Amino acid sequence: MRKVVKDLNNIPASLVSKEAIDSLQNIIDTKDNSLIKSDIYRGKYLKTDGSKGDEVVEKLAEIYHGKCAYCEERTLIYIEHYRPKGNVQGSRHGGYYWLCYEWSNLLPACHECNKIGGSKGTQFPVSNKHLTHADCLTNNQKINPVKVKAAYLNSKEAPFLLHPEIDEPKEFLAFEIDANKNGVSIIGIDGIGGRGDKAIGICNLNRQPLLLNRLDYINNYVNTEIKKIFAKLSKGSISKEMFREEMKELFQKLDSHKTDEKRTFTLLRWFVMESADNFHKLAISNLPRNEQEVALAFFKAYKNGTL
Ligand SMILES: [Zn+2]
Repeated sequence: MRKVVKDLNNIPASLVSKEAIDSLQNIIDTKDNSLIKSDIYRGKYLKTDGSKGDEVVEKLAEIYHGKCAYCEERTLIYIEHYRPKGNVQGSRHGGYYWLCYEWSNLLPACHECNKIGGSKGTQFPVSNKHLTHADCLTNNQKINPVKVKAAYLNSKEAPFLLHPEIDEPKEFLAFEIDANKNGVSIIGIDGIGGRGDKAIGICNLNRQPLLLNRLDYINNYVNTEIKKIFAKLSKGSISKEMFREEMKELFQKLDSHKTDEKRTFTLLRWFVMESADNFHKLAISNLPRNEQEVALAFFKAYKNGTL
C-alpha cells in the first residue's frame, strides 16, 4: 500500500448523475441495500463504438495505475467500498449504504484482498464507534457533503484499515525477509495490534503468493543484479572503477523505480532504498559476508553522494 492522491472534486459523472441521486434517495428512504446499483458505482456507459465501459473502474485504474489499493499488485480492478455498503462484520451496523456512490469511499482492489472469507470482505473494525446515516446529516436532515467524505469519517471513527488516500502507509508498514526464507512479508510498525498490523490482517497482505512476488522483485531486480556485478569483478571482466560505476548505476536505477508508481510494490521499492539497514536486510543479506560489507559500504557512499 502506498499514498495515492485522488482529486475529490473530479468525480466520475455516473456518481453524481440524476440516476445516482434518485437511487441514493431511494436506498436511504428504504434502508434497503439490495437497491444499490453496481452499474452506478462502476459507472457503466456506452462507448461511441457501441461497446460498454465502466467509467469509475477506468478512472480508478488510471489513478492507481491498474494496481490494487491494498496489495499493490497489478490486477483486474474490482470496486471496493472502503466502508462496506452492505453490513459490517462482527457488528449490528447495517452497512454504510449511504456511501455506496461516494467517490472517497471507492477504491480499486484485487479479488484476493477484497473477497469475503480470509480477506477484507465486510470487515471494518474501528477504534471508536461506527457512525450511522444520521451522523452524516445537516441540521435539516440532508446529507452533509463534508460528513460523507472518508477523511471526516476516519477522523471520527478511527478505523484500523489504512486508507491510501488519507493515511501515509510508510508510517505504518515495513518489510522483512520471512523467517522461513519463503518470501518478503509486510509488517506493522506502529505497535502490536496497531493500524499496520490490523490492515495487514484485514486484507491478508501476507498470503503466500504476495510473499513470493515481493521476493521475486528483490531477487530479480536487486539481489541478482548485485551478484552479477560481483561476479564480473571476481572474474576480472571489469575493473574496480567499472565495478563502482556499475554499482552506482544500479542504485540510480533502483532509485528511479521506487518513485515509478506504474510498477508493482511501490512501497517495497521505496523501503529497500530508504536506509542502509533496510538495504542490508532485504537486498544483500544472502551474499557472502565480505560482499555484504562491500555492497553496504558502496550503498552508504551512494546515499551520501560520494560514490
Ligand atoms: Zn490486492
